[in-house]
Amino acid sequence: GIQLADRVKLLETESAFEVLEKANRLQAQGMEVVHLEIGEPDFSTDSSVLQAAARALEEGHTKYGPPVGLPALRQAIAGHAGARRGIEVLSEQVVVTPGAKPILFFAMQACVNPGDEVILPDPGFPIYQSVIRYCGAVPKHVPIIEKDDNFTMDLDALEAAITPRTRAIILNSPHNPTGGIIPQEDMAAIVSLLQDKNILVISDEIYSDIYYDEPPITIASFPGMREKTIIIDGFSKSYAMTGWRLGYGIMPKMLVEQFSKLAVNVHSCTPPFVQLAGVEALKEGQASLERMVKEFKERRDILVEGLRNINGFRCPTPKGAFYAFPNIEGTGFDSKTLANKLLEEGGVAALNGSSFGEAGNGYLRFSYANSQENITKALEKIDAVLSSKK
Ligand code: PLP
Repeated sequence: GIQLADRVKLLETESAFEVLEKANRLQAQGMEVVHLEIGEPDFSTDSSVLQAAARALEEGHTKYGPPVGLPALRQAIAGHAGARRGIEVLSEQVVVTPGAKPILFFAMQACVNPGDEVILPDPGFPIYQSVIRYCGAVPKHVPIIEKDDNFTMDLDALEAAITPRTRAIILNSPHNPTGGIIPQEDMAAIVSLLQDKNILVISDEIYSDIYYDEPPITIASFPGMREKTIIIDGFSKSYAMTGWRLGYGIMPKMLVEQFSKLAVNVHSCTPPFVQLAGVEALKEGQASLERMVKEFKERRDILVEGLRNINGFRCPTPKGAFYAFPNIEGTGFDSKTLANKLLEEGGVAALNGSSFGEAGNGYLRFSYANSQENITKALEKIDAVLSSKK
């Protein structure tokens, strides 16, 4: 039979996809299920973007393009992403990929050797650990902790995690799964820990447009940090374009050549008609983005207040992204048991916090990328499951 390579056994997957499958199975058996497990906006892509893609297809933008992206899109991203963050971004620093994930994968491939240590948030996006291990590198978890009605990086743990073997650190703010945003003073403290060290920063800013109060700040805006930071961002969340596969990285120019080689070896290029739709999204998609964030904020308030009213739940206020991350230890259940119970008995699909890392134990992740009506229904179902417990 076929023998698998050792390295592929190191890859992990995202539990959201597994829970979705189980939820869909229960649904097919006739159960009413509210989906709060999925990390994708439930909005449709703006019609101007659909039309731009259709136009691009008709005009024949269906061939190979430059491996790192069309000049028109790289230019548009540089202007947009730079202005939003208050930093200068040149179009030659932008690499366009099919979704944001390849930027993470290529960053690790380009910059991390086997045996190197890479710091990552715990809880955190499961793909970080998967890709680190796939590269033969060693994941070093730094807890994301509750602080001032927010979640942020544990700075003492970060200081302790940095060693001479640390090659890179992954930051993610706004944060999946907690909805936390690293505040200015904590970011400044992170910068001072990294300043004089030769450590690459991979700053996953895929939720940068989705915040409810103070905008997130990028580490790349601090003096001396731009030269060692790769920013990850994309169109999936901001413009409700998860299935289009369109993302990008902003990086020091010397890395672009390496990313270009990786692109040629893996996917050749990002589909040109998708990229032209992206140009349109940056131009015409802002009103849709604002409407979406306004709606997310209303849903957040309903969900968070409802969760706080459930016995045994404690829920900090999410500052960005579209996830609430309540601590549920007061219910007497562990988070895995409760996630299963809510799905099987209540028809509410949520994710067990520990599927994002050990420090997520005791928490559940609820996505509020679902209607206010469904969120209200889910809250009633959760309450019913917990008040019927013996
Ligand atoms: N980074 C984080 C933190 C995410 O939550 C996601 C999507 O769930 C991604 C990256 C991947 O984005 P994309 O679908 O554009 O590859």
